[in-house]
Amino acid sequence: MGQPFTTHEVLNQPPPLEDVNLFASDSALKEAVLREGAGGAIDELSAFGGITGSAEAFERGRLANEHPPRLLTHDRQGRRRDTVTFHPAYHALMRTSCEQGLHSSVWSHLATDGGSRRPGAHVARASAFYMAAQMEAGHCCPITMTNAAVPVLLLQPELAEAWVPRILPFRYDPSFAPAADKAAVTFGMGMTEKQGGTDVRAATTRAEPAGAGGAGAEYIITGHKWFMSAPMSDAFLVLAQAPGGLTCFLMPRFLPDGSVNALRFQRLKDKLGNRSNASSEVEFHGAHAWAIGEEGRGVATIIEMVTHTRLDCAVASAGLMRLSLANAIHFAEHRTVFQRKLIDQPLMGQVLADLALDVEAATALSFRLARSFDRAKDARAAAWRRLMTPVTKYWACKIAPPMVAEAMECLGGSGYVEDAPLARLYREVPVNSIWEGSGNVMALDVLRVLQREPEAAAMVMEELALAAADEPRLRFAHERVEGLLQEPALLDLRGRALVESLALLAAGAILKAHAPAAVADAFIATRFAGTPRQTYGQGLERADTRAILERASPHHG
Ligand SMILES: Cc1cc2nc3c(=O)[nH]c(=O)nc-3n(C[C@H](O)[C@H](O)[C@H](O)COP(=O)(O)OP(=O)(O)OC[C@H]3O[C@@H](n4cnc5c(N)ncnc54)[C@H](O)[C@@H]3O)c2cc1C
Repeated sequence: MGQPFTTHEVLNQPPPLEDVNLFASDSALKEAVLREGAGGAIDELSAFGGITGSAEAFERGRLANEHPPRLLTHDRQGRRRDTVTFHPAYHALMRTSCEQGLHSSVWSHLATDGGSRRPGAHVARASAFYMAAQMEAGHCCPITMTNAAVPVLLLQPELAEAWVPRILPFRYDPSFAPAADKAAVTFGMGMTEKQGGTDVRAATTRAEPAGAGGAGAEYIITGHKWFMSAPMSDAFLVLAQAPGGLTCFLMPRFLPDGSVNALRFQRLKDKLGNRSNASSEVEFHGAHAWAIGEEGRGVATIIEMVTHTRLDCAVASAGLMRLSLANAIHFAEHRTVFQRKLIDQPLMGQVLADLALDVEAATALSFRLARSFDRAKDARAAAWRRLMTPVTKYWACKIAPPMVAEAMECLGGSGYVEDAPLARLYREVPVNSIWEGSGNVMALDVLRVLQREPEAAAMVMEELALAAADEPRLRFAHERVEGLLQEPALLDLRGRALVESLALLAAGAILKAHAPAAVADAFIATRFAGTPRQTYGQGLERADTRAILERASPHHG
């Protein structure tokens, strides 16, 4: 018992939302996991939900962000160190996620000769990643990059043979040591330079062949990267200009003889959010690296990595929105205003239910996308993956900042201070729409699909037409998207309209088919009504907000 206050009693202050199972308490998530093919993982996901939603895990998340990483450029004798130190909480978070296999579980079949993929592996991993992001989002950066590096490594068999088995163990080893001496390794990625991030072809970093050159050969790299996150990774996939053009390289921290490779970290970025994660500026002073693929094929080679990280951006955004919503509902369930619980105040009910609809939609879209990664051999799934990766990444990441801001406001002043997690979540969310292809870049990627792979777009539109057939407002939305597609000359200017319409149409179709009627009806009524709205809490007068909120409550289920 603490000391009682002499001036007042503490009343009407909701307890923190912690020790909540992030899986068991999330109906939309559980249903998505079952629907999209990962029913076999329910038990392990439920156990992970308990770990990630524990008070201890949330506290680690707080500590890892309050004590951000520090760069040690030199040791006390003035020799180069180029190492980054992290708070123990960060290492604990990494250990939790690596021991769950979030950095490699979808590739576990590679450990056994001819091993087959676990059904629903991407959906199961996405579900755990969605919860890990809620536990703490910054550490998910090296987790996602390591996972996404594997398909690129597989393109160069001798490098894959040396490195993939080191990625696969469900272990975390933070020691600064040669990869061969470690229990497990992680990967980072270096593409962005000062003069251009989106336009990676403008890279000035040079790669000179150490010998004959070519795929798999050793090169000497000189230049820089303006952003290179997770600098304590054991190796990086890096783009540099070889004599034959932009090429993808594997650059290890330690060379095969055990010496430290010539990466010189200049400073760490002082970021808006994502503070537990170190993002460096780095120079390569004749660093050694090995080519993955032929010279000049750099973008084509690294694109597979980016496709995987884009899925994770969408999944993490959905997860962060979910945690914001859960905190807002939890607060409103406990806080009394004018003799009524906040959640029972009609306007607040409208706002919260409206927020819940976007979380439902982002979750449905993200897990539908994850399923297309599991079934990529199927032509329809491959078409969905190609077109809907940029669409889902764009939409889920773009709606997250205003959604989290509104959720923060539901807690009033308590939402704006650092004691509740909302302030940190609010600073965190914008990064997902900036990195791994910013908003316009996603819209341009969709246009690229329309130009180069129109059959993929046609397959998705066909599937959406079928799903929309019984619902006039979805049918109309489908016709609208078809209309946009009929005017290719204007698409350059309407890229964002097209992407947003596609995202809403797909979300509406999935919710109509699978979500409870209260959710699907309210989503369609508000998102396809044609009435302009810029803020939450409008157009739900006829919606069953109680049913939507009961389902979304972290205390339901
Ligand atoms: C926290 C953090 C960590 C990061 N970590 C890494 C990392 O580990 N590795 C790495 O390589 N990079 C990393 N990045 C960099 C990130 O990927 C880039 O910032 C991003 O790709 C954008 O590149 P840029 O900053 O050069 O902006 P620019 O490319 O200059 O783009 C500026 C704006 O212009 C828009 N734009 C670009 N092209 C067009 C066009 N043709 N038409 C219309 N609009 C356009 C973009 O959408 C963007 O909004 C990180 C960034 C952040 C914030």
